[in-house]
Amino acid sequence: MRYPDDSLIALKENGYRLTATREAVNKVLYDHKGPFTIEMVSDALPGIGRATIFRTVRLFQDLGIICRVNMEGGAVRYQLASTGEHHHHFICTVCGVVTEFIDAHIDQAVNRQAQGADFELNSHTIDLYGVGSCCSKK
Ligand SMILES: [Zn+2]
Ligand SMILES: [Zn+2]
Ligand SMILES: [Zn+2]
Repeated sequence: MRYPDDSLIALKENGYRLTATREAVNKVLYDHKGPFTIEMVSDALPGIGRATIFRTVRLFQDLGIICRVNMEGGAVRYQLASTGEHHHHFICTVCGVVTEFIDAHIDQAVNRQAQGADFELNSHTIDLYGVGSCCSKK
């Protein structure tokens, strides 16, 4: 599990200053815990412009502090990453809970496909949709 300070450390390590905005956004994310939208952060911080919040969320995403999750149907949510490493997502379509998993074999297969197709791969995301143990009725 990561803690609020981890985000602030990640910012510093990458040469970013700890502005009041970045700290405020970070606090909202950790207080909220679950998946969030830009609107939710914006509502929680009425004193900060939406464009600034969007840029801050984008920065956190680039630094691997949070991840962008494409919900079924195209909506975009963000959530705190539990690891700074590359990973994939299980997305519960009933409650929206996102859990992460790491699988080096999948990544090797993805890279193999790209190489075989002479495709210069920059990145990939894998989001799996279904009913999680959070919502499956046994
Ligand atoms: Zn993630
Ligand atoms: Zn669920
Ligand atoms: Zn991957």
